[in-house]
Amino acid sequence: MNSIRRRFLIFAVLGLSLLAAFGVLAFESFRQYSQLQSKMVESHEVADLAQVFEKKVAVGSDGAALRAKAEALTSHLDPAFRGVALQRVLHQATRENVSFVLRTESEYRNYLSPLIGYFENRVNYFIALMLGAGILFVCLLSLSVFRSLLFPIQDLSRKMIEFLNNRYSYEFETPQPTEIGHLQGTFNALAQKVISQIEDLKSLDRAKSEFLSIASHELRTPLTSIKGSLGLLNSGVLGALTPAAAPLMGIALDETDRLIRIINEILDLAKIEARQFPLNLEWVSAKVIAHKTTQGLSGFCQSSGVHLVVDVADDLEIYVDADRIQQILTNLLSNAVKYSPPGETVIVRFVVDEAPSLRVEVIDRGRGIAPQDQEIIFEKFRQAAHSESPLVKGTGLGLAIAKALVEQHGGLIGVTSRPGSGSTFFFTLPQGRSKMAREQVVA
Ligand code: ADP
Repeated sequence: MNSIRRRFLIFAVLGLSLLAAFGVLAFESFRQYSQLQSKMVESHEVADLAQVFEKKVAVGSDGAALRAKAEALTSHLDPAFRGVALQRVLHQATRENVSFVLRTESEYRNYLSPLIGYFENRVNYFIALMLGAGILFVCLLSLSVFRSLLFPIQDLSRKMIEFLNNRYSYEFETPQPTEIGHLQGTFNALAQKVISQIEDLKSLDRAKSEFLSIASHELRTPLTSIKGSLGLLNSGVLGALTPAAAPLMGIALDETDRLIRIINEILDLAKIEARQFPLNLEWVSAKVIAHKTTQGLSGFCQSSGVHLVVDVADDLEIYVDADRIQQILTNLLSNAVKYSPPGETVIVRFVVDEAPSLRVEVIDRGRGIAPQDQEIIFEKFRQAAHSESPLVKGTGLGLAIAKALVEQHGGLIGVTSRPGSGSTFFFTLPQGRSKMAREQVVA
């Protein structure tokens, strides 16, 4: 396998061997240079000794210590004739013998000088080669680290981020036969597994939605005829109901209504999710939509004792599917009324902010929603847990439908809430989807 570890190992062995070879050569040259230097010093000593002897003999002194030093030197002077010449001076320190030693030593030093220069140059040369090889080694090592490790890791992490951001789409490449390639191979396998599991989940979800919509569709027809029959019985056309049967009939009618509502919501959601609900976009007055919605809810508001206040500019126009926006507002407002105590006020506001985009807010002073529930209530069939009444009569579909419709318009939906102090549900419309009639496009 073309592994990075092996590549680095070969690289390190070659680099270090080269450094070691140059090091040995530099050291060897230095050793020779030092030896020649000490021979040069020795030659100067020999010449000095010969001259000193000549002077000592001239003044009649024996100089026993100097003699001993000279004796020691003569034994290992190289070449041997230098030792013989010095010996001769020891026996007879005549001018002639001393001059001979001085001349020989001078010639010897002349012979040493170029050699010393040569080895000095060699030392410098090999040290320079060592430095050069060291710098080259560090540069090549860094380049190799970047090419074999850092760039591939960067590339892989970019692919991972893309994989996450592109909602799990990923183009698989054949990985290099290296450790990083192995990592990429593992990631490819992981990504393939995630993608195939997501596909499985999607097809399961599709099957579930299909089943729900078929079942709902099949249920709606018999339920509508049950509701018709119950209505007929309740109206007394077929004979008056007994006092005991009348309230039961009322309950049956209410529950049939509720069932039909649930079924309609399931069918709506299935259609939105299957993109079978094309938006009919047009410029409409926000005020007209808001008033139509509040009128539709006036009976419910009266029975709940909750007031509705609309805060919208007269000339605000929005580019939307009016029926769908009304459906979103109805869901948000009916919830706000449902969860507000009698006597409270629910406000619906259309705010054009600096972004500029449109933000619609539905504000209530009801029970509020716990932080952990604020995300899940926008999912299908999810309701917030209320300690007092675990399940308020509802389907848990209203907000899921509102979310799907807002997203279809390119906006966002959300809630801010403090338990006990009420909630503000909001949705936005993107830029270019709203304008004041008196002005040009403002958002
Ligand atoms: P439903 O109202 O039919 O149960 P929704 O999807 O409209 O379904 O709402 C989901 C849940 O969100 C509700 O059951 C309720 O717990 C919570 N909720 C929605 N609006 C409000 C509100 N204004 N105040 C408090 N809780 C709310």
